[in-house]
Amino acid sequence: MIALAPYAAHERESRGRAYPEAPPTGHRGEFQRDRDRIVHSGAFRRLEYKTQVFVNHEGDLYRTRLTHSLEVAQIGRSVCGALHLNETLCEAICLAHDLGHTPFGHAGQDALNDCMTEFGGFEHNLQSLRVVDELEERYAEFSGLNLTYECREGILKHCSARNARELGEIGRRFLDRRQPSLEAQLANIADEIAYNNHDVDDGLRSGLLEISELKTVTLFARHYAEVERRYPGLGERRQIHEVIRRMINEVVNDLIETTRARIADAAPKTIEDVRTAGGLMVAFGDRIAAEHLELKRFLRERLYRHYRVVRMTSKARRVVRDLFESFHADLRLLPDEHREAAERLEARHGASGRARAVADYVAGMTDRYAILEHARVHDPSSVS
Ligand code: MG
Repeated sequence: MIALAPYAAHERESRGRAYPEAPPTGHRGEFQRDRDRIVHSGAFRRLEYKTQVFVNHEGDLYRTRLTHSLEVAQIGRSVCGALHLNETLCEAICLAHDLGHTPFGHAGQDALNDCMTEFGGFEHNLQSLRVVDELEERYAEFSGLNLTYECREGILKHCSARNARELGEIGRRFLDRRQPSLEAQLANIADEIAYNNHDVDDGLRSGLLEISELKTVTLFARHYAEVERRYPGLGERRQIHEVIRRMINEVVNDLIETTRARIADAAPKTIEDVRTAGGLMVAFGDRIAAEHLELKRFLRERLYRHYRVVRMTSKARRVVRDLFESFHADLRLLPDEHREAAERLEARHGASGRARAVADYVAGMTDRYAILEHARVHDPSSVS
């Protein structure tokens, strides 16, 4: 095994867990324990039935949040290897980064955020942290997964100043304008690389995107021309895959080279130097950053706003909003454990506590569970 760089996240320098625990036994390290707890969590399994772009029942071949998270982890780990960063920590962060996502992708999150306007809002990043800090109920001695500070720091990618103040220690860096570990910075970019590329694949497979329009995107056009030149007459599926794997390769190599140069420039000696640096060290070079942004904008315009996607997201918003409003108006409609949680949080935090417990329940649903639950609550002919 290659030694970690001195500025990588080292377990021996970890800020530890909120609830102190004996070190893991056997050959496992602390970050391995984090990763294993994430993989064994209920929220992780539910990612299989949560939308990335296409709702689960639209087809078996599209990415779900689970396969998306695996692809993010794959990219994160390979870059860590090249830069001598901590692969295990980065993998754990990548696998956990979407645990707080609502059903139906961003449409679900937007709808829930609207419902929660008066009660502190809803943000999936913050919810991912809430899942691992509080909502998972698996261990005798603590709520949540009791992950290391470094893993939690990576999961909380963004945060408003108001939320940062409420979160205490883990929110401090947003107020002090400090950076997270390189592993956390990398997990964030690996997420972007994964969805930009796999959404091209899913977009083409679904017929919502056409190769002819993708050829207007610089990054795609360059690799498409290369594949056509090298393999004339190649079947379309292989052709698309060859283009996408070349795009991923190019952006990942650029990321590695640029980051290596930025680390050399900043010359951090420890993770503390990374955290106090003036900016992020994990980054694309200017050209690839611009091309990646162009691709992202293209996908927003042509795929995420395609009328067939919008029809789906409009239904999804309605399902999430109806569920929230019904439960929030009458807690007796909730299954016992969620009603009890709502009563408990209401007693402790008033109206915002009640709303938060309802949001926790709705956010935890898979796409199909939300559809079923919507029918059970709203459709008079449905059996409850
Ligand atoms: Mg993601």
